[in-house]
Amino acid sequence: MNGETPSREDLWAIQTPQGFDFQTILEAHQDALKNKACATDDTMLVSELGHQIKFVQGHKKNIKITTKQDFEMVNALMDTIICTGHGFDVHAFDVNKDHVIFCGYKIPHKAGLSGHSDADVGLHALCDAIYGACGNGDIGYHFPPTDPQWKNANSRTFLIHALNLINEQNGTLMHVDITMIGEAPKLGPHREAILDVLEELLPLPRTRIGLKATTTEKLGFTGRQEGLAAQTTVTIRF
Ligand code: MG
Repeated sequence: MNGETPSREDLWAIQTPQGFDFQTILEAHQDALKNKACATDDTMLVSELGHQIKFVQGHKKNIKITTKQDFEMVNALMDTIICTGHGFDVHAFDVNKDHVIFCGYKIPHKAGLSGHSDADVGLHALCDAIYGACGNGDIGYHFPPTDPQWKNANSRTFLIHALNLINEQNGTLMHVDITMIGEAPKLGPHREAILDVLEELLPLPRTRIGLKATTTEKLGFTGRQEGLAAQTTVTIRF
C-alpha cells in the first residue's frame, strides 16, 4: 500500500503514530478550518489535499498507550510469564492393603501403596509439578518423610500447601495433566469419580484437568505390578 492514496475504508483503520512534514500538516489543518471540513484524523486531512499517504503495516498487539489504564494494561501483559512444572512419583505395592489412593480417591484393589504418608502417587506428582513451576523445592523438602508428623498424612494437605504457594507468588493455575502409569488398578472405571475429586480440590474447571493412564506393556517394575507411578505437568501463569 506504500505510496498509494488510501481508500476511505483504509483511513478508518489507521493507527497512531502518524508523521507529517510540518508545513504539509499545517496547510491541511488551515484548509480544513477554512472549508469547515470534517475528518477523523490528520491522515484524512492530508489525503483530502491530494497528498500520497505512506502506510506501514501495523499489528493489533501494537496497542496505543495514552492513559494511565493503558500503561497498567501494558505492564500487566509484559509482566506475565507462563511456567510449566513437571512431577514424577513412584510407590511400591503393599499386599496387606486393599485399596490404592489416587488423587484423593480410594480405588479398591488387591493391594495398596506403601509410603510414609497415604502414598497418593497422583497427588505427590501433582504437588511436585507445582513446586517445580514455582521454583520452590519438592514435596520431600516441604514434607520430609523422616518427620513423624507426616506419617499416614492425607496428601490433600500437601496439595493445599502447594496451591497456597501459587497464591503467595500471585500465580494462577491454568491447567494440570496427570498420568497414572501401571498395569493395575485400571483408571477407566474410576475416571469420572477421580475428576470429581480433582475438580473439588483444584481451582480449575473439568476441561482444564487432564487425567490419563498408560501401561508400560508389562515391562519394568510397573509392568511386574511391583508399584504404581504417576507423572504430571502443570501450567501456571505468573
Ligand atoms: Mg510419593
